[in-house]
Amino acid sequence: MPYWFLNKETGEAQKIKNAKRGEIGFMILEHITNKTFHQQSNYIFKSHRYYKFPQSYIGLQSVCDDTGFDVDAISSVEEMNQYDYVLISITSHQDIETIIKHFPKKEKRGNIIIVGGSGIINPVVLYNFVDIIVLGRCDNQINNIINGKYSDNVIDTKKDKYYEGKYSIGMAKKQININHGGKNILFNESSYGCKFKCFFCHYGWANKYVDFKKENSYKSGYNGNEDIFKNMIWKKTRYQVSAIDGISEISRRRANKKLTKNEIINKLLDRDNAGFLQNSLQLKLYNIVGYSWENDTDNYYSEIEEILKYVDSKLNGKITILLNNTHFIPMPLTPFESLPLNMIDFKKIDYSFNGKKIKLIKSYAGYGIKSQRKNLISYRLKFEDLQRFEKEINNPSTYFDKYLLRNENILPNIIRTHKYKLF
Ligand code: SF4
Repeated sequence: MPYWFLNKETGEAQKIKNAKRGEIGFMILEHITNKTFHQQSNYIFKSHRYYKFPQSYIGLQSVCDDTGFDVDAISSVEEMNQYDYVLISITSHQDIETIIKHFPKKEKRGNIIIVGGSGIINPVVLYNFVDIIVLGRCDNQINNIINGKYSDNVIDTKKDKYYEGKYSIGMAKKQININHGGKNILFNESSYGCKFKCFFCHYGWANKYVDFKKENSYKSGYNGNEDIFKNMIWKKTRYQVSAIDGISEISRRRANKKLTKNEIINKLLDRDNAGFLQNSLQLKLYNIVGYSWENDTDNYYSEIEEILKYVDSKLNGKITILLNNTHFIPMPLTPFESLPLNMIDFKKIDYSFNGKKIKLIKSYAGYGIKSQRKNLISYRLKFEDLQRFEKEINNPSTYFDKYLLRNENILPNIIRTHKYKLF
């Protein structure tokens, strides 16, 4: 296997025959589970400096940069054993399943696996498979971690067997800028965390808000095309992406989503100011269904129906709305963390709107009731149920349904970033 390194003078990658393997490697688990590693256009380059990181892995790319070395891309679980240190970013529950299903347990390996990333919600679930868990950001920390010097956002699973220490979530200490060869700026971080503090939002509550560009605004998504709904500016060229995060004003108010019915009406009516009245502007709206208190399934879409009927009668231009529903999950470290999961299957409620100017199509994101049940069990799991959980990772039995009820004792050793009072 060739080893690639960066020639600092020419900026080119060079191959060294018969070189010793690097000490540090990184893995993108989704490429391993989907077997897409070899479809990466630049996969032959082992170094992270030439690897085409997917958008959601810029944090891992930045950590690789922090090492100051060329970090190798690892293409399989077997290859992982050739590295002393393996860096992995956990982005979802799927990654946790992959590790539990395919990785050897830590006592059967000689190397050190270091994991971090937004998918590390409950560090208990990876206890048997990884050595070091980084909570939150890992800015400028990786070399200290490799040298055994830990801040309070780092759990050493061998030293603190049952996570009895006090831990905090690592905050952003530097703005991440990613470019390739100094030419194309691929990512330029504007802020981290969020100041709006919707009560369901783990990203907003777990992380301390840092505004690098002092723009005082929330923008997210690829090229910053997502915005707070009431601040959204209609553009004629692209489709819009935003969120209402609650089907009724009552639910939004309880979730601290400050968006009234009238503000929704006014923003939809504002579409006419973008012109191009014959063209249908596209609007993707993320929404949360099935909050713990919602049970009026017969009238579930009545408020939206009222809004759309009214706006449809006033509007001159056209809008196609894709309402993208996700089932609510009480996320740890948020004010809603102890709420029960609503077990009504909201996917079954039919709804669409087809007016003269507005069309609404409802879709349901992957996070339906079944996957949220599985996710919530893993977010709240305790050590005493870990062994059984690993065996039932694909389909946890009803034994685990106790984790879906109101639960006041979530991640007791992790210090909350903010104090809050619910309702
Ligand atoms: S859901 Fe609310 S708190 Fe979370 S990022 Fe969006 S606006 Fe911010």
